[in-house]
Amino acid sequence: MVRLWQRAFRAESRPEAFHSSQFPPESEMLITVRDLELRPLHFDQEFQPGTLDLGVDATQRTALHARGQADLVEEIEGQRIIPDIRLRGKLQTQVELPCARCVEPVKYDVSSDFDLLYRPINADSHPDEAAISEAETEIGFYQGDGIQLEDVLKEQVLLALPAKMLCREDCKGLCPQCGKNLNQGSCRCEAKISDPRWAALESIKGKLKQ
Ligand SMILES: [Zn+2]
Ligand SMILES: [Zn+2]
Repeated sequence: MVRLWQRAFRAESRPEAFHSSQFPPESEMLITVRDLELRPLHFDQEFQPGTLDLGVDATQRTALHARGQADLVEEIEGQRIIPDIRLRGKLQTQVELPCARCVEPVKYDVSSDFDLLYRPINADSHPDEAAISEAETEIGFYQGDGIQLEDVLKEQVLLALPAKMLCREDCKGLCPQCGKNLNQGSCRCEAKISDPRWAALESIKGKLKQ
């Protein structure tokens, strides 16, 4: 009984807590179809550094700022109305990730615009919709009541990162033998090739090529 009362009390003491346009900064923001049926939702949010989990390699260095709006787009398909969520806006943050060659941390500014459409996950299970056209591959899916803004932003940040991050175009990378960062100077491993044992190996290699 006491627990129930406490819960009721808390809910009452924060009457605006679940109102769609009243999210406190940094809170998780669930964008639901039910809310969008009433009105489009505008968001202007800041996620403090490290709030977004970008996986093992990437780290969110500065606050992520995201601004935009969510709308309900009703797709009419025969007898069905499919409630799609359109999400558009822009985001900015700085991410740090290791150089693909020398593993030194590299800072990368992410600034991207997005305009995305999310369909309910079961909408495409309809038999006459087996083929998904190329244009539709950009469409995302949501499960349950709606989408978590944070998840969308996380995905957008990851998509904005280069496939291969380099600290500089001509990064020399690490020596495969001793692991030294070759941008900071050469190592002695090259000298080993002139070692008589290596020289013997080199001559065998040379013969094999012929
Ligand atoms: Zn590098
Ligand atoms: Zn080396």
